[in-house]
Order: sequence, then C-alpha cells, then structure tokens
Amino acid sequence: MAKTVSIAIDGPAGAGKSTIARAIAKELGYYYVDTGAIYRTVAYFMDLLGISPKDVDGVERYIDELTINIEYDDEGVQHMIMNGMDVSNDIRTQDISQKASLISAHAVVRDVLLDMQRDVAKAHNVVMDGRDIGTVVLPKAQVKIFLTASAEVRAKRRTDELIAKGQKANYEQILKEIQQRDYQDSHRAIAPLKMAKDSVKVDTSDMTIDEVIAAIRAIVAEKVGA
Ligand code: C5P
Repeated sequence: MAKTVSIAIDGPAGAGKSTIARAIAKELGYYYVDTGAIYRTVAYFMDLLGISPKDVDGVERYIDELTINIEYDDEGVQHMIMNGMDVSNDIRTQDISQKASLISAHAVVRDVLLDMQRDVAKAHNVVMDGRDIGTVVLPKAQVKIFLTASAEVRAKRRTDELIAKGQKANYEQILKEIQQRDYQDSHRAIAPLKMAKDSVKVDTSDMTIDEVIAAIRAIVAEKVGA
C-alpha cells in the first residue's frame, strides 16, 4: 500500500480546528477526521444508558456494546454511526461536550479509539483534528499544527455562532465552560492536550478564517509539497 499523508491539527476547544481542517481537507482531496466526534459518540452512548462519564467501571462494562462507524456523505461530511444510528447531530450539545471531556480521560476509552483513528490514517490521506493527534495518535504525521486562540476569543466566537443560529448564548457561561474543558483536557494523566515538539503553533486570535487556511496551506506546501 502506498504511504499515506497525515496532517494533524490539535488545539483547545473552539480554536476553529474543525472549520479549518475541513477546508484544508477539501482543498487537498483528503479525508477529514474529526476525532472529538468519536469521543462525543462514546459520551452520548453512556449518557443514554445513564452511566456517569466519571464512572470508569460503568464505562468499562458497557464499552464493548458500542460499535462506532465513521461514514462520509457525498459532500465529504463526517457522520457518526452509533450501533447503526446516525447520531451526528445529537452529539453537538454543550452537555455532551462536557461529558466527552470527562469520559475521554479514561484509558479504556482512549485505547479503544486509538486503533480506529490510526486505521483511517493508514488507509487514507487525512487531515485529523483533536487534542493528541500529533503527540499520540499519529506521532509520525508529516505535518503537525497546534491551533489556538485566547479563551476569550474562543468564547466570543462560540457565542456569536449560537446567536447566528438563533439560539440563546451567554458569553460568561460559555467562557467558563471553555476554561473548564481546557483545564480538564490539559491536566488529565493520559494523552493530555499539549503541543507536540515538532508542531507549528498558529494563534488564530487576530486572524480571519481565510488567513488561517492560507497560513496552514503554506506550512503543508513546505512540508509535503501538496
Ligand atoms: O473537539 P471536541 O470539542 O468535539 O472534543 C470533545 C472532547 O473530546 C474534548 O473536550 C476532549 O476531551 C476529547 N477529545 C480528546 N482527544 C481528541 C479529541 C477530543 O480527548 N483527540
């Protein structure tokens, strides 16, 4: 099998990873893999069963009953299939964001998901986003980006996004949740959110989406000529 190209994009919640990763993948004709969605699917499944995300024994007991498939539609949009059911929309709530952050700290969850993520990258050229892609999942990725922005900017973007969708949004509350998730994600024992040594940091606080895409395209062109 020909060697595949992997572009790893890590960073905290709300840094714009998915928007940027999706755009880069589309331009290059690569698969876009949103790994946060996989953790969200585990959190959603356990939630339906009434298992607390902190209950490691409960999570371990039921994780074998969960089958996750990642599918792509004609537009290249990733869908999460949980035991045959498309849960792509159900996993996008604030409640599941917090629960995913807690559940992702357990070794049993991370071990199960590791192979799934590596298998996609073995079979396809990918732009994969998450927290530990450059450090743990794909340490040999040809391109590693650490995408970040201040917590205040990320909270403001999220607030505007919700308001644009006609939903209620409280900036202070969103900022608090982002800071809490940053703390949990970067202080857990296994695969914490941190910048890989060979990663390029891109701070998007004062950049437009187009500027970020252009900056990353330049890094990709330099590293892999794509
Ligand atoms: O990126 P997203 O907000 O969808 O991720 C949800 C949660 O899943 C994160 O807060 C993080 O705890 C976890 N996650 C992770 N490792 C990844 C991707 C996400 O631990 N590679």
